[in-house]
Formats: sequence, C-alpha cells, structure tokens
Amino acid sequence: MCSQNRDFHVFLFPFMAHGHMIPVSDMAKLFAAQGVKTTIITTPLNAPTFSKATRSSKTNSGGIEIEIKTIKFPSQEAGLPEGCENLDSLPPTPVLADSFFKAAGLLQEPLERLLLEDQPTCLVADMFFPWATDAAAKFGIPRLVFHGTSFFALAASDCVRRYEPFKNISSDSEPFVIPDLPGEIKMTRAQVPGFIKDNIENDLTRLLKQSKEAEVRSYGIVVNSFYELEPVYADYYRKVLGKKAWHIGPLSLCNRENEEKAYRGKEASIDEHECLKWLDSKKPNSVVYVCFGSVAKFNNSQLKEIAIGLEASGVDFIWVVRKGKDDDDVGKEDWLPEGFEEMMEGKGLIIRGWAPQVLILDHGAVGGFVTHCGWNSTLEGIAAGLPMVTWPVSAEQFYNEKLVTQVLKIGVGVGTQKWIRVVGDSVKNEAIEKAVTQIMVGEEAEKMRSRAKGLAEQARRAIETGGSSHSDLNALIEELMSSHS
Ligand code: UDP
Repeated sequence: MCSQNRDFHVFLFPFMAHGHMIPVSDMAKLFAAQGVKTTIITTPLNAPTFSKATRSSKTNSGGIEIEIKTIKFPSQEAGLPEGCENLDSLPPTPVLADSFFKAAGLLQEPLERLLLEDQPTCLVADMFFPWATDAAAKFGIPRLVFHGTSFFALAASDCVRRYEPFKNISSDSEPFVIPDLPGEIKMTRAQVPGFIKDNIENDLTRLLKQSKEAEVRSYGIVVNSFYELEPVYADYYRKVLGKKAWHIGPLSLCNRENEEKAYRGKEASIDEHECLKWLDSKKPNSVVYVCFGSVAKFNNSQLKEIAIGLEASGVDFIWVVRKGKDDDDVGKEDWLPEGFEEMMEGKGLIIRGWAPQVLILDHGAVGGFVTHCGWNSTLEGIAAGLPMVTWPVSAEQFYNEKLVTQVLKIGVGVGTQKWIRVVGDSVKNEAIEKAVTQIMVGEEAEKMRSRAKGLAEQARRAIETGGSSHSDLNALIEELMSSHS
C-alpha cells in the first residue's frame, strides 16, 4: 500500500444492476487496497449490497474504509413502482426497463452535488451514465468509463457496428466473419444485438449512442480483464481503435476468504457452509455448475429441458434457478419433471434464487460451468480454471461466447442461435446433455480444462504485485495523481 495514495480520492458510480454493482464493489476493494480513499455512490436500497460486501473485506482493504454515499432514486418520477431501484428486481418487460433507464437519467443533478462537496480526484462511472462525463468536467474531474465487459466484446461490437457485416448476407443463420477484427471470428446476424442490426431508434439506442459519444470525451476506460487473457484484442482496442484503457482484473480475485466470496451481490439462498459441505462430499472436477446470471430468465418448458438434460448427462450438478417457490409464474413448480428433486437427491443441488457463485466455482469439486456468458460469470469461470458450456442470451454475451469457444478454446456452445432481450432462445435437452458431457468427460474435456487452468494461473499472477493488472492499476493511479497535482 502506498501512503501518498491517501491524497487520491476515487468516486465509483455503478449502474443499479447486480452485473454492474458486483464488479464495482470488488473494484472499490482494489482501490482501497492501494491506499486510495474510495467512495461508492448508489441509491438507498442498493447500499446494503455494497456495505455487506465491503465490510466482509478484511484482508484487502489495507485499513482504508470504503465510504458509501446515497442519492435518491426517482422511481415515481419515472413511473416505476416504489422500491424499484435495481434493474434485476423488475419484471422482464421492455417498458419497465425503459422507465428504469429514464429514472437513472435523472441522477445527474444529485451526483453533481456530491462531486461539488467532495471534489474527488476522479470519477469512474458506468457506461449507462453518459452524462457523467459532463458532470465531472464541470468540476475539472476526469471521468473514466466502466462497461463491465471484455476487450474482445468491446472490439468486436465496435467492428460490427462500424462495418455492418450483417447487411451483406442472405439469411439470419448464415455465418459471417467480423471484419477487421483479428482471428477470423464468425457469428450470425441472428446473434447480433437487436438494437444494432435492426437500426431502430428508441430510448435505449439513443442512450447507447450518447454513451459512445461520452466515452470519446472521457479520460479513458477501465476494463475487468487481464492482458494475458486477450492480448491481441487489448492491443487492437488500444492501438487500432485508439482508446485509452487500463485492465485491472479479474476483479473477483480480490475476494480471497470464503466469507468475502459468499457476500457478493444478493443474499445467498443457501447457507454457504451447507453448500461447501455438499461440494466437499464430491470428487474433484466432478460437478457442473449451472447459472445464468442475475437478469436472464427462462420459461418453464426450457427449465424442464435443462432438468432432463442434466439428468441424462449423469454428471453431478448445482443448478441455480431464478425462481422462488413463491414466484407468480412458477405455479406448482411444474418446471421440474415429476419427482425430479427426490430422484436427484445427493446428485444434484437446486438453488432457488441466489447462489454464492465464486465460492462454488472455486471449489475443487466443480469441474465445469454452464454459463450465459455475462462477462463477470465468464471471467469468474476462467479465474477458477473451468471449461464452459456457453449459452448466451442477450447483451454482449454472444461476443463473449466467441472468445471462449473460438479464441480461448475452453468451451463448447450449447447451440443458442438468437439474441433475445430477456428470455433466452430455446435449447433441447439432448443438446444440453451433449454439451455438458463434452466439457466434463473425455480427452477433449481434459484438454479444455488444462487450457482453462493455465489461464487461471495467469489470472492469479496478473493481480499480484508486478503482475499486468496490478501494474496497470498503479499506472492509472499515478497518472491521475500527477495530472491532479
Ligand atoms: N451471481 C451470483 N449468484 C447468482 C447469480 C449471479 O453470485 O446466483 C453473480 C455472478 O458471480 C456475477 C454476477 O452475479 O458476478 C452476474 O454478472 P454477469 O455479468 O455474469 O451477468 P448478468 O447478471 O449481468 O447478466
């Protein structure tokens, strides 16, 4: 820890969704561990998520307390039900999501008040707050952007947006190579995010356009990745696209103790000791972990296909289902085949709600991960050295899938073909069984696991003193300090 960093004060302002809040919570611990004064800005109902996570950080904060400041979330002004302060807590309708983004757009003034009061050295604000660049500029404060995704996805989406390769093909399913992007990466028009290929103008596309413009005027971006994972794409992003970026991940690795790993995000729906006990009873690399992040939802028939596929694979599993017993659309739990849980007793564990994901991924009994390819999950899987079944749904998840399957070669696709904003494309149980078997059993699985373990080792080295991510974080702090003084 560097004592002169105490003059440095970073404001972190994450978007109100767990996929954005969790890495920023880790980022706060990372800055604090460098002796930097660190403040997280959020809304009242989201504050406990941060206080719980940062309080559990005994090992890494270097004695620096992370402060949490709240600003009121204007739910009512935006026509949202009272108490809706997190995107994950909304029913999955585009209308409500649009209102949520509208409410988030009203946070500029309260943020400016805090910037005026505290005069921090810099502001790291989420890409969904494009106006944060101007807000910071009013007070002469540099603004950094946090997208929460990989260099690969940033570069690939830039190329797809720029060259529009999906326009020159005859069908949704015909593969094209992403122009200019190194590595001959293939995808299809159906997998390109709807808001890019459909060329529609709505609130979300306007917001994303503003976000791009604000990014150009910002100081740079911070990326939750490590150089050795995607050197070609980190170089491409910086040198060819000319963007200023610092890689400081994998952020999840700042959680070293079980308690820290268990307290990320929402409160877990299973006692962490019970979960570890279950895993302790299993052989190394024998369990597949299945989880689709904090937003994606599947309908009952898809859940049933997953259940049948998992059973048929014969592999032990932990499966996280974002439906509780009391959820409206669950009815009589008819998303599970009759008697499934009893039949799977001891072989499969279903967690309804929220799992302590990193704690599970890091356990030696876990040997593979079925993921929706949200970047946090993907990188957590890599940091745990796991081969993956890729099951992208929306956002930039299809790009992350290509990184895992085509570049890193540590995963196999389950076969989803279509980008869908909320509820995923449908996949049959045979495809699930096949993909799970491919990453868990046999020579090819071992090869993938061994490559993944190599990456996990590099990830660990990247965050140690002198490692690439550690050095980049310090370079960023030093650069901002010298331009500040
Ligand atoms: N997560 C978790 N338990 C769950 C579901 C998700 O801890 O039951 C965490 C996961 O470890 C990751 C984040 O939530 O850090 C999800 O982020 P990601 O980018 O993977 O997906 P998103 O939720 O944004 O789609």
